[in-house]
Amino acid sequence: MRETCIFCRIVSNEARAAIVYRDEQVTAFRDIHPVAPTHILVVPNRHIESVNALEAEDERLMGHLFIVAGKLAREEGIDRGGYRLIVNTGADGGQTVFHLHVHLIGGQRMMHPMG
Ligand code: AMP
Repeated sequence: MRETCIFCRIVSNEARAAIVYRDEQVTAFRDIHPVAPTHILVVPNRHIESVNALEAEDERLMGHLFIVAGKLAREEGIDRGGYRLIVNTGADGGQTVFHLHVHLIGGQRMMHPMG
């Protein structure tokens, strides 16, 4: 838990968010600035700064995080149409909140990220 980390504060209920899923390992909540009809962030409850900070012991946690993302996609009704999972990493990757998170984005057709 990092007092200065907004996602840690959401996980611990100190900051408000539209939480859609929570268990002992991960929390999911709606992005405050959605870029598509569905835009959910799935985060580990434990503070992990980014993919750069992952260790071998985090393998199950990260697998679980993606399983939850897929479950939420089904619940949002976007699994058949398709969706995008994004993990921005570091400044060049566009990461602005340094608590690892997966963006689940869908509900509309998206441009290919590679152009
Ligand atoms: P990234 O740029 O990949 O680090 O993504 C960070 C995301 O967190 C952005 O899409 C923000 O809109 C979102 N965000 C920042 N603060 C909050 C918050 N308090 N509640 C929900 N989403 C947030």
